Amino acid sequence: MSYCHLVKPGEKVKLKDIHAGHADSVTKEEAAARVLELGKHLDESVELMYAAGMNGLLVVLQGIDTSGKDGTIRCILGHVSGQACRVSAFKVPTTEEAAHDFLWRVHGQTPGRGGMTIFNRSHYEDVLVARVHKLVRKEIWKDRYDHINSFEQLLADSGILVMKFYLHITKEEQEQRLLDREKDPDKSWKLSVGDWKERELWPDYINAYEDALEKCSTKDAPWRIVPANTKWFRDLAIMEAVTDELKPYRKVWRESLVERGVREVAELKAYRAQMKTK
Ligand code: AMP
Ligand code: MG
Repeated sequence: MSYCHLVKPGEKVKLKDIHAGHADSVTKEEAAARVLELGKHLDESVELMYAAGMNGLLVVLQGIDTSGKDGTIRCILGHVSGQACRVSAFKVPTTEEAAHDFLWRVHGQTPGRGGMTIFNRSHYEDVLVARVHKLVRKEIWKDRYDHINSFEQLLADSGILVMKFYLHITKEEQEQRLLDREKDPDKSWKLSVGDWKERELWPDYINAYEDALEKCSTKDAPWRIVPANTKWFRDLAIMEAVTDELKPYRKVWRESLVERGVREVAELKAYRAQMKTK
């Protein structure tokens, strides 16, 4: 059962036609129980991936302000041991970063084989905020989709599984979340006037997202649109997608570890035999 909308290569996406709410087929309690099960399975898979060192996993989280990127990361990290999973957040580029090509700062943060990294924002900001705020000319950002596809293909060809999630919330839900933040003393530190200003650019952001989703969903690095208006459902949808992605690899990772074990034991035996003859 997949709760995310997997964007087919070249598919034209109209976000307003895609459901942002939770499915009626699952209750909050059922979702919580399922997330626990998925979490155990995912933790095992990530451990296996780490030990086998044949593949890595990159999870890219994008979404409009308040869409729940931080909450999603908290959920994943609540289940996966910190040893194998890192988080990289991408903010306004520093002077040094801005002096390089837009992928420079990103490439160094990608996971190696065996590792898992979650991106809180990513290279997609360079076709989102950079486009909406006209930080670069159109001639520049329009070529970036191809650069992104080549970059992600390189990662995939190097054994890195690339999963990209767009956290889909409605404009009404965002308003509610911003107002809730204002009322909650534990959350109001997250607020800024900028959030309300950005909200005025909602249609421009949606346009930019729809283009990125259409142009950069490829066979090896597809986009998934996550219904994210309901937080517990969003967590379920993502935990399920990530767990399912790793599942088919477990067999070959296990086999490689068994093979390695056999080799190690044989080497040890040979070493002992050699010691005896001395
Ligand atoms: P936050 O995720 O709330 O900590 O905010 C990070 C800010 O950095 C957001 O406003 C992003 O739009 C901004 N940001 C991230 N990457 C870029 C980029 N490549 N160019 C310009 N702004 C960016
Ligand atoms: Mg913010």
